[in-house]
Amino acid sequence: MSTVICTICKQREAFFFRPYSGESLCRRCFIKSIEHKVRATIAKYKMLEYNDRIAVAVSGGKDSLSLLHILAKIEQKYPKASLVAVSVDEGIRGYRDKAIKMAAENCEKLGIKHHIVSFKQLYGYTLDQIVKRLKRKGGDGLTPCAYCGVLRRKAINIAARDVKADKFATAHTLDDEAQTILLNILHGDALRIAREKPITDEVHSKLVQRIKPFCEVPEKETALYAYIRKIRFQSMPCPYASEAMRNDIRIFLNRMEQKHAGIKFTIFRSIEKIQPALEKAVRKEGLKECNKCGEPTTAEICKPCQMLRQVS
Ligand code: SF4
Ligand code: ZN
Ligand code: ZN
Repeated sequence: MSTVICTICKQREAFFFRPYSGESLCRRCFIKSIEHKVRATIAKYKMLEYNDRIAVAVSGGKDSLSLLHILAKIEQKYPKASLVAVSVDEGIRGYRDKAIKMAAENCEKLGIKHHIVSFKQLYGYTLDQIVKRLKRKGGDGLTPCAYCGVLRRKAINIAARDVKADKFATAHTLDDEAQTILLNILHGDALRIAREKPITDEVHSKLVQRIKPFCEVPEKETALYAYIRKIRFQSMPCPYASEAMRNDIRIFLNRMEQKHAGIKFTIFRSIEKIQPALEKAVRKEGLKECNKCGEPTTAEICKPCQMLRQVS
């Protein structure tokens, strides 16, 4: 078999073919291309200021740890910026505890401060306890993921505020974004798409702005990045992972991508084009403070507090 040479440096042997761009890349050029893509995404969406304090939401998985490593590299060039890692311990025994250990190991290696908040400490229950209690009560039709997602969103915001961050970065990849778009459509919640942006624009003094620097990087490539840079991450799946429809969409999108390279980008870009029109159609609800916990919400009682009522 003949050796394929890297399209970029034209010197080293290629090890990865990027179907949507037609490039064959060596390890070094691949790493550089991902880091460059993140820098370009940050600039394109004006995600960061030169002196921002950035909290990176780190779960201990490949995506968030790859993002942490890349942002740590970028941050070195901005002496006035600072980086801190935040993790949410949902309380999933045998799973999240191990992942947080790996997150801590990576933070130590990079010399980054690691702040952890837990469901137990914030809400009085671990996710394991919530699931058990709901089961005993006969359930309310919602999956553990539905609870986990809503409660984690609030927890990350609190953690980011704790560390006085100006922005918090999550490691949602292009795959996550394309899946969420289709999920919202299939759930009949198309207008929700207007709210999902690479940088949030809702304003409230208690709400830390969220950025997604990986929104244009396919998941396969964040995994490859972690592998080449020998980043240790949690690879086992969550025992509650059950979002059946998201899984179906993931399989569907991956099949489509194989046949039609670049389809995930096309979905992402299509939505970007219609987002301004969607935004006009959505009534902008101002954020106020939850009557119960004081956190920002559009309702009288925030969703996490409503959910916790079902549990207690
Ligand atoms: Fe939470 Fe579901 Fe993710 Fe597990 S799979 S961490 S329950 S959202
Ligand atoms: Zn090369
Ligand atoms: Zn509340």
